[in-house]
Order: sequence, then C-alpha cells, then structure tokens
Amino acid sequence: MAVATTHNPLLSIVVPIYNEEESIPHLYSRLSEVLTSYAQPYEIIAVDDGSRDQSFALLRDLANSDPRLRVVRFRRNFGQTAAFAAGFDRAQGEYIVTIDADLQNDPRDIPQLMARAAEGFDVVSGWRARRQDAFINRKLPSMIANRLISWVTGVHLHDYGCSLKVYRAEVVKNINLYGELHRFIPAVASWQGVAVTEMPVHHEARRYGKSKYGISRTIRVLLDLITVRFLLSYSTRPMQIFGLWGLLSILTGFAISLYLTFIKLLYDADIGSRPLLLLGVLLIILGVQFIGIGLMGELIMRTYYETQQKAIYVVREEVNG
Ligand code: UDP
Ligand code: MG
Repeated sequence: MAVATTHNPLLSIVVPIYNEEESIPHLYSRLSEVLTSYAQPYEIIAVDDGSRDQSFALLRDLANSDPRLRVVRFRRNFGQTAAFAAGFDRAQGEYIVTIDADLQNDPRDIPQLMARAAEGFDVVSGWRARRQDAFINRKLPSMIANRLISWVTGVHLHDYGCSLKVYRAEVVKNINLYGELHRFIPAVASWQGVAVTEMPVHHEARRYGKSKYGISRTIRVLLDLITVRFLLSYSTRPMQIFGLWGLLSILTGFAISLYLTFIKLLYDADIGSRPLLLLGVLLIILGVQFIGIGLMGELIMRTYYETQQKAIYVVREEVNG
C-alpha cells in the first residue's frame, strides 16, 4: 500500500498520462501547490497509460519522495477511459477529481469545484468556457457533440469532454466504464439519480507534446452515445423496444400482404412484379428478426444482472435496513 497518510484522504486526484514527460514536473508542482494550501488531505493517483517516453520514470522518482503520489503503470496503452477506471478503483477519497496531465486544465480551479460539490452536488463538471484548441477540428465537432449528447441523454452540459471534474466517489465506483465512455459519466450518473452540475473552468493551450486525439474520436463518441442512450432507457427491458418495432413491422407487412392476396384472388391482378410485395415480405421478416433480437436481449440482460447479482436500481440510503 503506497498511501502513508494515517486517515482516509478526503480528496483523490486521478490523472491519466500518456507520453507527457515535459508536462509532468510542472503538473506535479502546480497540483501540489494548490493541494497543500487546500484544507483537505489528498492523494494523487497518476495512471501511466503505457507511455513510451520518460513519463513513468519521472513519476516514480516523484513518488519516491512523496507518499501522497501513487503511480499505476499499465502494460500498454489502454486508453484514457481505462486510465480513469484504474484511478477510480484505487481512489480512497470521498471525492474524486479528474484532471488532464497536459496542463490544459488548471489545478487552481479544484477548490471552487470542491466548494460546489460541498453544496450537495455529486458530480461537478468543468466547462471550458474559453477553450484553447483549434476551432475546425476540435471546438466545432465538440460543440455539435455536446448539443447532441445533451439532447439524447437529457442531461444538459456545455462540455462533456472536459476532463476536469469532481465526483463523489461512490458515484463513479458504481459505474462500469468501457470504450470511450468516461465522458458520459455525468449522463449515466444522472440516470442513477445523482445531482449533476457544471461550472466554468480555465483552459490553456497545450504547451508540450501533442494531443492524442483527432477528428476520428467524434465517430467513436457518436457510437458510444448510441450505446449509452440504449443503456439508459432499455437495458433492463430490451423486448419493450425491439418488440414494439417488431410488432409494428409485422403488422404493416401483414396488411400489405393481405391486400395483395386480396386483389390477386378477387381481380386476378399481377402482383408478382410489384415492389409492394417485396416491401410486405421485407417488413414481416424484419419484424420477426426484431422480436428475436428483443428476446435475445432479454436473455442477455438476465444473464448480466443475475450472474453479477446486480440490482436494477440504485439505493440512496436505508433506515433500519
Ligand atoms: N491520455 C491517456 N491515454 C490515451 C490518450 C490520452 O491517458 O490513450 C491522457 C493524456 O496524457 C492527457 C489526457 O488523457 O493527460 C487528455 O489527452 P489529450 O490532451 O491528448 O486530449 P485533448 O485535450 O486534446 O482532448
Ligand atoms: Mg489536452
């Protein structure tokens, strides 16, 4: 156990790091400066996501002289979401702060965010109101993505992509992260019934190294959005959505086929060459498939919840429980 503090630290800072050797010394001193003057005890959990530069060596040296710095080193690059997850698993604080290692976020925002959390919010999301990134390939796609995510999830935030966020630890420890899902934590958390808010934070241009992402991330985020939306609304009742569409499809197909049979038998119409026939058949087959997928989903859902003894609800507290 790397933590030497005698009591449970209240604040855990989780930093994902992938090839950020130039930033690390600055990050460490800025973070330490803010946190030592901050009233609460803290721990910094640096997760080296398979860096190929000197990042790990630097972190290890810093950690050797500072027990409040804990370092986790991945075997290879597993991605930022995995790095966050590793940090969340190890965090011992009551609150968890996530922050980027590249100095684009400002640690001096942490006390404000914490103050907001203390007002009773379980998630306080940073909003890079004056974001210092390129417009065309970063800010514009991100603007569209934020609108879309807000609309689809019903949780309205200006900046889902900002890493600087504060979470009450029990909230993130309850959420399993896959893919690029870390940016959706506020949405998933809000589904669990926790209070989410946002707050403008500072943002600086990247000084050292390169951004690890390009425009291609937008597509992955969009795909994840579909997953999240589905999980939010139908993960415990897949038959409700697939079954409904399946039934509609079968009924429409059936009506079309009935009509064609009718005119064939009564008027001896030539229905073999009609596109409508294809449509009718297509809709029936599609409907049967939808219902099949719904049933499959029900089986998978039961396996998921029952093998893991997972509850389909989240309890806030119990009295005499
Ligand atoms: N990062 C990581 N693993 C990755 C990619 C990025 O741990 O596979 C870290 C990176 O070191 C940085 C943070 O995640 O601390 C955000 O990455 P970046 O600054 O490249 O993203 P941007 O700010 O450009 O969106
Ligand atoms: Mg960055």
